[in-house]
Amino acid sequence: MSRGRPPRARAETVPARIVRLDARGCLVRLDEPMEGLPDEGRELWCGVRGRIHQRDRRGQKSPLAVGDLVDVARTAETRGAVMAVHPRESTLSRPVVGREHLEHVMAANVDRVVIVSSVSDPMFNPGLVDRILAVVEYSQLEALLVVNKMDLAEEPPPEVAAYEAFGVSVLPTSADDGTGIDALRRELEGHRSVVCGHSGVGKSSLLNALQPGLGLKVGDVNIVTRRGRHTTTAAVWIPFGDDGSAVVDTAGIREFGLFGIPKRDVPWLFPDFAAIATRCKYPDCLHLTEPHCAVKDAIESGEIALFRYESYLSILEGLDQA
Ligand code: GDP
Ligand code: ZN
Repeated sequence: MSRGRPPRARAETVPARIVRLDARGCLVRLDEPMEGLPDEGRELWCGVRGRIHQRDRRGQKSPLAVGDLVDVARTAETRGAVMAVHPRESTLSRPVVGREHLEHVMAANVDRVVIVSSVSDPMFNPGLVDRILAVVEYSQLEALLVVNKMDLAEEPPPEVAAYEAFGVSVLPTSADDGTGIDALRRELEGHRSVVCGHSGVGKSSLLNALQPGLGLKVGDVNIVTRRGRHTTTAAVWIPFGDDGSAVVDTAGIREFGLFGIPKRDVPWLFPDFAAIATRCKYPDCLHLTEPHCAVKDAIESGEIALFRYESYLSILEGLDQA
C-alpha cells in the first residue's frame, strides 16, 4: 500500500513572453493562442510559483522581468502559472530604489535602449543620460538618444555634439509637430527596444505618435502601463509590427543607479575616455588624482567635454556611497 499522495502529474507547459508585471503576478503573451483567453487567445494572467520568486543568496537575481521568455501552465479558465524562466540574452538593470542591493531588471531580451530626453520642459539632463549610457555600454546594448520637444527650441542642447562625437546616434523629435517620428519608427523596426527617460519628457506622446492604436494615455494616468504617474515599476512589452519587433515602455525614472558594476570598470564605460585612457601612466587609472593622466589633460584641453567628466565623478561618488 502506498503512503501519501501519488506524485502529481507534471503540468503541460507552453512557451510565452512576459509582457507586463506587477506585484500580483504577470501577464504573458502566448506563442500559440489558447481558446477562451483575451486578445484572440494570446493573453494569460499568471501567478508565480514560489521557487521562482526566490532570489539568490546575495539577493541579486531579479526573478522575473518584462521580456522574459517563460513556460506557463494553464491552471484555471483564465489563469496560469509561470513554471520556468529561460536564460536571458540581455538585460537592462538598475538597483531597486531604496533597496540598492537588489537588482531591478527593467527589461530582458532587448537589444536597444532608447533614451528619451527633452530639450526643455523638463530641461535636458545630461547626468541622467550619461548614467544610462554607461549602463548600456556595460550591458553591451545599443543606444539611441532621442531629444524630444524640438518644437520648443531653435536647436538641440549643446551636449549633443559630444555624444555624436563618440558614436551615439541622436534623433531630434517632436511629438507635437511630428518631427523625427518617421525616423524613430525606422529605428525601432527590427529591434526589441526598451524606452526610458525622466517622466514628462514625452515618452507616451512619442509612442502614441508612432502607433496611434496603442491608446497610451498622456499625462497623469497611463492605462496600458501603469495606474498613475507615481505608481512604481510597471513596464509593458508592446509588439511593434508582426516580425517580433517590440518596444518596452517603462515608468518614468528620476534617478538611474548602476547595479553590480565595479568601480574599476566605470572608466571604460565612457567611450570618449577609453580611447584616450590608453595614454595614462597607470593602466588602472581612475582619472582622479593620479599623475600623468591623459584623460585629465584632455578635459583641460577641451578634447573631452567637462560635463562628461562631471557625470563620471558623480557615478563614482554614488558607488562609494553604496
Ligand atoms: P512621459 O511622462 O515621458 O510619458 O511624457 P508625456 O507623453 O506624458 O508628456 C508630458 C507632457 O509633455 C504632456 O503635457 C505632453 O503633451 C507634452 N509633450 C510631449 N511631447 C511633446 C513635444 O514634442 N512638444 C511639446 N511642446 N510638448 C510635448
Ligand atoms: Zn587617467
